[in-house]
Amino acid sequence: MKNPRPGTFRWPNGQRGAVSLCWDDARPSSVDVGVPLLDRFGIKGTFFVLPRNMARQLKKWRSAAAHGHEIGNHTINHPCMGNFIGWQTPETMLENYTLERMEREILKANRVLEASVGVTPTSFAYPCAQTYVGRGVRLRSYIPLVARHFVVGRSGFSETYASPERCDLAQVPSLDFDCKSFGQLRAMVDAAVADRCWLILTGHEVGDGRTKQTTSAKALEKLCAYLLGRTDIWTGTVTAVGRHIAASVKHPPIAARLR
Ligand SMILES: [Zn+2]
Repeated sequence: MKNPRPGTFRWPNGQRGAVSLCWDDARPSSVDVGVPLLDRFGIKGTFFVLPRNMARQLKKWRSAAAHGHEIGNHTINHPCMGNFIGWQTPETMLENYTLERMEREILKANRVLEASVGVTPTSFAYPCAQTYVGRGVRLRSYIPLVARHFVVGRSGFSETYASPERCDLAQVPSLDFDCKSFGQLRAMVDAAVADRCWLILTGHEVGDGRTKQTTSAKALEKLCAYLLGRTDIWTGTVTAVGRHIAASVKHPPIAARLR
């Protein structure tokens, strides 16, 4: 199979691009406000949940999963770099991790999600968009590990959207959803679709708060209406879009394992 040239990838049903809407951490407002808002428009989101947060609203998360929203893996301990001195402990710093421990904990998160919401995650979001364990000359990437276990590994704080022909499905870029106006979000969607690309938006909370980790509910509502009106855009979950790309473009080894 020969990979198509950039801009020539075929999206399903003659569509011109894809958009996925994500929220991380299982913040309470993402299921209290985000899920019902998406449901009003019949749009499916992808939620990369932390089991400890999800456990507080398990009934709601089960219902979201049963209604077709994707539940993705976001680890057990949310390990990130130690420089987050306010909340990252030595125990959960990436600098103190090994690949073996990372794999063990990622698979444990899968088992917890299987037992609690009845789904086996097929997508993964790197906490803090950081993809390494260890430090210095002993630093290792855990991207290959994610590639072995998931259809898609989602990155974050990226500077651009994903090219279906060129992206590494084990570290797909995503852009910030939080604190954006509808006008800003629409411009991001339009740019991605004009390039026949895949835009993944990543947020945390959903509501009217002005914290730097809140997706504006008002902007989200307008965005959902806009996406519904754009029949040339595929709005799908991260795994649904990732599977389509894996089936269409040669991206070894992840496509070979999970197609
Ligand atoms: Zn997170």
